[in-house]
Amino acid sequence: LMGYVGFANLPNQVHRKSVRKGFHFTTMVVGESGLGKSTLINTLFNTQLYPAKEPLPPSAERPKTVSIESISADIEENGVRLRLTVVDTPGFGDFVNNDESWKPIVDNIESRFDAYLEQENRVNRQKIVDNRVHACLYFIQPTGHSLKPIDIEFMRRLHAKVNLIPIIAKADTLTDDEVFNFKQRVLADIAFHNIHIFQAPIYENEDEETVAENEEIASKIPFAVVGSNQEVQTADGRTVRGRSYPWGVIEVDNEDHCDFVKLRQMLIRTYMEELREHTNNVLYENWRSEKLLGMGV
Ligand code: GDP
Ligand code: MG
Repeated sequence: LMGYVGFANLPNQVHRKSVRKGFHFTTMVVGESGLGKSTLINTLFNTQLYPAKEPLPPSAERPKTVSIESISADIEENGVRLRLTVVDTPGFGDFVNNDESWKPIVDNIESRFDAYLEQENRVNRQKIVDNRVHACLYFIQPTGHSLKPIDIEFMRRLHAKVNLIPIIAKADTLTDDEVFNFKQRVLADIAFHNIHIFQAPIYENEDEETVAENEEIASKIPFAVVGSNQEVQTADGRTVRGRSYPWGVIEVDNEDHCDFVKLRQMLIRTYMEELREHTNNVLYENWRSEKLLGMGV
């Protein structure tokens, strides 16, 4: 099923109660421009949330600060409706001086926490809308070397406020060996800098098959992904979502070619509810108690 996104599985992840209320999920994408953020979102949710755009002419006025742009869409699959919001952060890492690139992003995440807290403090708490960011896909440039200072700085500033999911962008530009070695270096950097990335919980009372599947997902982090909304023909005549090269086709949905399927499983099919819960129970809760402490409450 090429176009099946997988959030139809959400009712299996949560109580019936939330099914009636409908699902809201907010994901943020961060990374230098051109790393394939918009393309990957389109590929993940099988939508044209981001229409194809012409590149800016060289003479065009370019913005000088990171901006925050949010778009929402209602998507439906097998009768399950999902209100998806994607928060894009154009400009991140694109300037001569990127020292403060993380700041508007932290501000945005915190102002969403603030808005939630304000609703919680209202007398009528029936209709709380959760616009908090539930996951942040961080796109790492496929250099094949290691993390850059801007990557480390961003993740250190953000890891206590959002579920970080690191991604190696445009993995089709690296060989399998390069991907393997790059992943090891990225993980070593993350460990060295004590950066917390989202870890899918593994429950003890789950069956062997589920545990194995969850371990398999975890083993792919940082996900090396390829995005494409183009359908292309393989040498053996199949039509697939992928990218075509003179030497062959890289298939987005083929697990031997990249980690796209595993990323989608993490973000949508298996852990969407877990990401929302962790945001609420841990990240938001920590932020809230610190804020109240700071106010001397
Ligand atoms: P953004 O600026 O991060 O949102 O990047 P875009 O999604 O606009 O993509 C920038 C360019 O990279 C476009 O020409 C895409 O077709 C191309 N692109 C996107 N994803 C991939 C990928 O996985 N591999 C390769 N090789 N190119 C990609
Ligand atoms: Mg974009």
